[in-house]
Amino acid sequence: MTKIALAVHGGAGTILKSQMTPDLEREYRNGLETALKTGWSILDGGGSSLDAVEAAVASLEDFPLFNAGRGSVFTHEGKQEMDASIMDGSSLKAGAVAFVKNIKNPVKLARLVMERTEHVLLAGEGAHQFAEQIGVGTEPDEYFFTEHRWLQLQEAMAEGRVRLDHSEEEEKGRKGEEETWSTKAETRPVGSVPLTRPIGTVGSVACDSRGHLAAATSTGGMTNKKYGRVGDTPQIGAGTYADDVCAVSCTGHGEYFMRGVTAYDLAARMKYKGLSVEAAARETIDHLTRINGEGGLIAVDQHGNITQPFNSGGMYRGYIIHNGSTTIEIYR
Ligand code: ASP
Repeated sequence: MTKIALAVHGGAGTILKSQMTPDLEREYRNGLETALKTGWSILDGGGSSLDAVEAAVASLEDFPLFNAGRGSVFTHEGKQEMDASIMDGSSLKAGAVAFVKNIKNPVKLARLVMERTEHVLLAGEGAHQFAEQIGVGTEPDEYFFTEHRWLQLQEAMAEGRVRLDHSEEEEKGRKGEEETWSTKAETRPVGSVPLTRPIGTVGSVACDSRGHLAAATSTGGMTNKKYGRVGDTPQIGAGTYADDVCAVSCTGHGEYFMRGVTAYDLAARMKYKGLSVEAAARETIDHLTRINGEGGLIAVDQHGNITQPFNSGGMYRGYIIHNGSTTIEIYR
């Protein structure tokens, strides 16, 4: 039997209780709860999973602590370039935008790409032309600026090396693990730039009363990114996927999610191996770990079962299920 269900995430990474203040934690929880309530009111009123995930993600984009829309991280040039995607599982229709600036809600533009064009992904200048033509709202640079993201850029540039957002404790714990170019400056490829992976990409998955599934994801990407770098978030199958068996939204170091085609990997494990959403998600995260990727995902099946696994220190996450009970978690 289909049970309506909604999940959201606000990014995965090194989130340690020791580094969190009670006030900040309350703010993060409020942001997640507002998004859950926004999406839930649509589902509970008989609305579609597509409308619910779009509304939940737009709410998280408007919340400045998350790395999407307002509060997006800065590129090497001090700009904010955003990526987003949305997918409707029942029709397999999808829309995405990459490398967009000043768009208040990139997820809404992604949905318009899905509904008003014959394409799936529009990037950069072309995406802006489309946005202008269709009358999508923009905001000035000041709207997107946040002090903490600006400071993160200064830190990343001063470090001059590629690093994941590990704490000292975690680095010790990972000693002996194979180092990749992303953690070792001397071996990084020519042309690579110092990047830090921030926490705060946002996403949502939902199952509506007809058992239809949808997923959406939105991000500012990685601090200090350069050369028009685009991650997994706007790539259908990597950062976002939905069909008639599951809907998936990912967060983490995008390069690994692209290599692992992570969102579709989960769907394939369900379809071809007959696994439950929980078992498929666990295997997907195990595979991500094997290829040195860090992050997590949220997924829902057509019965409203939700799973939210990750291999990082924490993941901002929450869900509401059929009886209306809300769960919000941050740490491991
Ligand atoms: N996956 C996003 C990217 O690589 C970042 C994140 O989820 O934190 O652009």
